[in-house]
Amino acid sequence: MVPGKGQHMMVEKSPVRLDVPMILEDARVAVTPMGDSVRFGGTMELGAWSSKVNQARLGGMKRSIRKILPQFAGSLENVKTWTGLRPCTPDGLPVVGRPEGYSNLFLATGHAMMGMSLGPVTGLCVAESLSGAKLTVPIHALSPGRFKK
Ligand SMILES: Cc1cc2nc3c(=O)[nH]c(=O)nc-3n(C[C@H](O)[C@H](O)[C@H](O)COP(=O)(O)OP(=O)(O)OC[C@H]3O[C@@H](n4cnc5c(N)ncnc54)[C@H](O)[C@@H]3O)c2cc1C
Repeated sequence: MVPGKGQHMMVEKSPVRLDVPMILEDARVAVTPMGDSVRFGGTMELGAWSSKVNQARLGGMKRSIRKILPQFAGSLENVKTWTGLRPCTPDGLPVVGRPEGYSNLFLATGHAMMGMSLGPVTGLCVAESLSGAKLTVPIHALSPGRFKK
């Protein structure tokens, strides 16, 4: 698994009211309204282990936002910024299941850009697997064993 570093910035007081989240597809920036604030998230640097905000990447996000959502042009200077490392697997799918040879270990990781969204269904898969219940969602394709040569 490798880190997929992403940047985030928060406009505390949105200059416009946004009712729904959106993705600026060309710029690859996710826009999430959170009460009076708006969160912008984006960029993917594979293998970047540093937890320092990448100002160049952040600048690129700001340029795209100014072009696509000009209402935010004056709100992007004093934003709170943050960077995080997304857990990325070689085939882009999460890893959910028991690794071969370890009966007391269960993995649920590698959700890359979708860990918050997929957390609940992954939690359900883990609970059903550990309790021996019938699986609501088949997880064979997510098995850690798929990377074995
Ligand atoms: C900028 C950005 C925006 C995002 N936006 C979204 C979004 O809108 N929607 C969405 O669904 N997902 C989003 N994600 C992705 C989401 O954050 C991740 O998929 C999710 O956090 C992965 O969860 P995790 O528990 O697997 O890993 P993590 O959240 O990384 O948790 C792993 C934990 O393990 C700890 N740890 C690491 N090594 C050790 C060790 N050796 N011993 C003990 N503890 C250790 C770490 O400190 C960390 O707390 C975003 C990510 C980024 C970076």
